[in-house]
Amino acid sequence: MAKIGINIATGSLQKEEMIVGIDLGTTNSLVAIIHPENRQPVALKEHNSSSLVPSIVHFDKTGNITVGEEAKQYLVTEPHNTIFSAKRLMGKSYNDIKDNASFFTFKVIDDNTESLVKVQVGDKFYSPIDLSSFILKELKQRAEHILKTPVTKAVITVPAYFNDAQRQATRDAGKLAGLDVLRIINEPTAASLAYGLGLGKEEIKTIAVYDLGGGTFDISILQITNGIFEVLSTNGDTYLGGDDFDRLIVHYWMKQSGISETEISANKELSQALRLKAEEAKKYLSSNENFEAKVENISLKLSKQEFESLAAPLIERTIQSCRNAIADAKVDVQQIDSVVMVGGSTRVPAVKKAVSDFFGSPVNDTVNPDEVVALGAAVQADILAGNNKEFLLLDITPLSLGIETMGGLMDVLIPRNSKIPTKAGRQYTTHKDGQSSMRITVFQGERDLVQDNRKLAELNLSGIPGMPAGLPKVEVSFLINADGILVVKAKELRSGVEQSVEVKPQYGLSDMEVEKMLLDSLTHAKDDIAKRALVEARTEGEQLLQTTEKFIGKNASLLTQHELIQTAEAMQALQLALTMEDKDLIHKKVEELNDISRPYAERAMDQAVSSAMKGRAI
Ligand code: ADP
Ligand code: MG
Repeated sequence: MAKIGINIATGSLQKEEMIVGIDLGTTNSLVAIIHPENRQPVALKEHNSSSLVPSIVHFDKTGNITVGEEAKQYLVTEPHNTIFSAKRLMGKSYNDIKDNASFFTFKVIDDNTESLVKVQVGDKFYSPIDLSSFILKELKQRAEHILKTPVTKAVITVPAYFNDAQRQATRDAGKLAGLDVLRIINEPTAASLAYGLGLGKEEIKTIAVYDLGGGTFDISILQITNGIFEVLSTNGDTYLGGDDFDRLIVHYWMKQSGISETEISANKELSQALRLKAEEAKKYLSSNENFEAKVENISLKLSKQEFESLAAPLIERTIQSCRNAIADAKVDVQQIDSVVMVGGSTRVPAVKKAVSDFFGSPVNDTVNPDEVVALGAAVQADILAGNNKEFLLLDITPLSLGIETMGGLMDVLIPRNSKIPTKAGRQYTTHKDGQSSMRITVFQGERDLVQDNRKLAELNLSGIPGMPAGLPKVEVSFLINADGILVVKAKELRSGVEQSVEVKPQYGLSDMEVEKMLLDSLTHAKDDIAKRALVEARTEGEQLLQTTEKFIGKNASLLTQHELIQTAEAMQALQLALTMEDKDLIHKKVEELNDISRPYAERAMDQAVSSAMKGRAI
């Protein structure tokens, strides 16, 4: 049931909109709200189904997209167009993930650069933001179907270790799905809130949040001081989770029944069936002693004891992480006031026991561990909605603040709804050789292109000593003090040249204008993000053309005639693609040029190394 309120300023009646909490997980995602009648957090679900939506996106031949249980069925049979674990790619470049590239069964573009990763399905390219937005859109639709009302406002959770770029990517995904993301909060913070920890006005506590999900393990140590959460340390393993338990069980069964590796890799159906049975067995053994089943006439058996000895080494690894986190937080185990259990895999009794033994106290496990993060996000959403009058909302920034970057894009330094005072900083560099000045233009607003936002100030950092493009390090910092004054500073770190300016962001801006800017950002989200993707693709393409040209200029003698011709053709094709409004085409041409240049770039590298060796005195 929605509430009706009266807007005092305009006198109009308005239906108060529900703000939902969303756990956008690596394995599973879900939505929760505060129930309007009993005021308790609840996870949303349709009759007779689970609240969990597998974070899996399937693309069929015609480009149709399905998300969730339905998509999960294609994991083994259509690995190239069934995307899982998109969250692991958020805000990452290929260099960041290349050590784990074999983990992904779909095509992740391996251009060996620092630009953000993309996933290729057929002849289309998707960013992790796109993929996450498909999941969020599905969650939004389900929530609307269940609540019978539009859902446009949300709080979304992210791991405590997510950096700025990953948080911004999550916000963008929300926006693309038609959601106004009021706040991004840390998963361990949300889990604590779901247990009511940190809700007291005068409360000082140290909390450990142990989160063992499907594919990841996180331990966070939090300090709560009068409603403010601070992350003291995080630790964990981004490739350790319940899926590893399943894998161990499959191997155990293979050994027992004499099934070989070659047999299993040739038989996809059997492989999938064993995987699913293993997960079933694991879950069953969380509350029973013995599991028995049959798959293709192979009889499978597993006792709780057998499972526990298989899992023991993995569990021990998580405990070692806990030890490290405690040390990094500079606290003693005895100082931890509460331990909160999060993630489906903490249902395993041996996990619970190991954790409570390590911390020397019983753990908090009364709230459903795979819903607890979403439930906490709903608690935070309710506070933001102002329904929880016990809680005072601190001063916040109503609109995002950022600067203009290449191609007229808005680069947000302080997202909207940040508590003030606050500060943020980021490093930038030049893109022309010998560039001696840099113009920094400050904007406010939620749109992706600065031309649609509100310009606040401009400063010109001059006197940068001549250096090759990319070498100067210009640190731009934003500081908003308690009075809401924004101080923007730019400093070239190698030479020390510095410049700053002060602005009052709220000056001359009414609540209605703020409201309109927010609305605009939602109605234009799709268009905006498409434009941003195009600008980013073009920038990447232009940079590749420049570096290739430079490289050929220096190393032409290393290339065969054929390679020279091929390169010239690929460069021309890319040049042409840059003039068109098609980001997928640009990515494709970038890929092609990269493929052509890779062999001779490697040759040049080898030669540089061997001539360096020759020159070295022994
Ligand atoms: P994530 O945070 O990575 O999205 P979840 O918290 O939803 O993941 O956890 C999913 C994992 O929990 C899966 O590996 C699943 O098999 C496991 N799981 C769910 N229920 C149980 C159970 N009863 N016993 C053991 N493991 C479980
Ligand atoms: Mg989770």
